[in-house]
Amino acid sequence: MNDQTAPIPPLDISELDGDWTHRADVVVVGLGAAGLAASIEAAERGASVIALDRSGGGGTSANAGGIVYLGGGTSTQIGAGLADTTEEMQAFLAEALGRPVDDSRLAAYCSGSIEHHDWLVDHGVPFEPAFWPEPGMEPPGTEGLIYSGGEDASPYRERHRPVARGHVPATPNAAGWFLVERLRNALEATNAQILVDHRVERLVVDGGRVVGVTVKADGQTISIAADKGVVLACGGWAYNEALLAEHAPKLLEISWRLGTDGDDGWALRSTQALGAAIEGMDVMEVAVPLTPPREVVRGVIVNGNGERFINEDTYFGHLGQSILAEQEGVAWLVTDEPRYVVNRMGMRAENVCETWEELATEIGVPAERLAATMAAYNEAAARGEDPAFGKAPEWVAPLDVAPFGAIDLRVATILYAGFPLGGTVIDEFARVVRTDGTTVRGLFAAGRAASSLALARYCSGISLGEGTFFGRRAAVEALRD
Ligand SMILES: Cc1cc2nc3c(=O)[nH]c(=O)nc-3n(C[C@H](O)[C@H](O)[C@H](O)COP(=O)(O)OP(=O)(O)OC[C@H]3O[C@@H](n4cnc5c(N)ncnc54)[C@H](O)[C@@H]3O)c2cc1C
Repeated sequence: MNDQTAPIPPLDISELDGDWTHRADVVVVGLGAAGLAASIEAAERGASVIALDRSGGGGTSANAGGIVYLGGGTSTQIGAGLADTTEEMQAFLAEALGRPVDDSRLAAYCSGSIEHHDWLVDHGVPFEPAFWPEPGMEPPGTEGLIYSGGEDASPYRERHRPVARGHVPATPNAAGWFLVERLRNALEATNAQILVDHRVERLVVDGGRVVGVTVKADGQTISIAADKGVVLACGGWAYNEALLAEHAPKLLEISWRLGTDGDDGWALRSTQALGAAIEGMDVMEVAVPLTPPREVVRGVIVNGNGERFINEDTYFGHLGQSILAEQEGVAWLVTDEPRYVVNRMGMRAENVCETWEELATEIGVPAERLAATMAAYNEAAARGEDPAFGKAPEWVAPLDVAPFGAIDLRVATILYAGFPLGGTVIDEFARVVRTDGTTVRGLFAAGRAASSLALARYCSGISLGEGTFFGRRAAVEALRD
């Protein structure tokens, strides 16, 4: 433990210097997607709200793709002709994220998903009821639905009917800025007080209950009382290198950590001082931008031993996580002449050779192994099958027309984008949970300030989905308390 990782002790109310500077029912720390949703919900329920951000607001959310994981039969899904049920969504997410299917937080998220979709729409975030067939990435147009967690790929497609649940707000390409802009407009239409360039420094407690915060602004320290609750929506710890080194060191190897300076672990450290439980600290999202276009997955991905380890048509987050965490950061996509394609990032097969053995030597993997891998793959592919990893038949074809080439997927050489998903445990009401199972009165967390629903693997759209969903729940619960 050091000065970047140590718990940040709360201030006891008796240590406050004078009276509170401001007072509100609900104080929301951070104005990214989670904080905006919490602030709107509280203000629209008639509470007085002070919403603070250490910068101008928007956070990582404003830089995001904007995919929101929703389902169960939203009007956007129905409009696009896609059937879904809450039970199917919950069963899929339980397996994909690595949570028990009866987990109360997951159950709340799934059963509340249609209502949450409608709330977003009502607050100015439209989704076009149209399916875009390229998974994982925001469409170049305004189509509102994509596969965003490997729903149409093995091992899920065999066990769960593939359903597109990645809801993308109706603006071309990355939509995070649009989501934030619309929610910010909705917040500004309430009587919530928005304080930017206000950095929360300490939680204030009174007899174990969180009753406010201290804040640094314009070189002054002020204090704000929260009569009903404080909602932590101030991001995660992607930019706290000491915490990463301790809990998720692989993330220090990738080229792009997704976050802002605000992801400094302040919420994690402050809740630790109150005895909060943590979970999933080594879980991460790590995306490798191999697709679009999906056609690229007709190639075969091998590790440093020249062996396959995954179905190439999987969600690119599973691929990235697997290469980083299980394949020592080394992978190549090998392909043949008819399957040659340049992807959206401009990645293309290089090291052009006439045989698999020559290609293996070029890229530094064992020649006999790669040749054997390709012989086995091609033998089954001639029947349209991939018995080893279950790649969907539409992407399976023998790779047997020279020249052959390889796309470099090594972590050290190409862009990998990721962020940590672990953090402070919350319950289904977004209350901060202690290690003994009790909750901290007056304290709530949402978004990356809390641990994710994703406890093993990620699906795109979960972060904005759970942030906005549990941000709203935090507001409701604070006002009920
Ligand atoms: C390129 C990119 C694409 C992505 N695509 C997607 C996607 O499509 N779907 C998805 O679900 N996720 C996506 N993500 C991840 C997602 O954007 C984040 O995980 C999510 O936005 C976190 O939201 P949040 O509200 O918890 O935090 P943030 O949006 O980061 O907001 C936190 C706010 O708190 C403020 N803050 C921090 N500390 C303090 C303090 N002490 N006092 C006051 N204010 C403070 C910060 O300034 C910040 O404005 C993407 C991320 C990136 C970078």
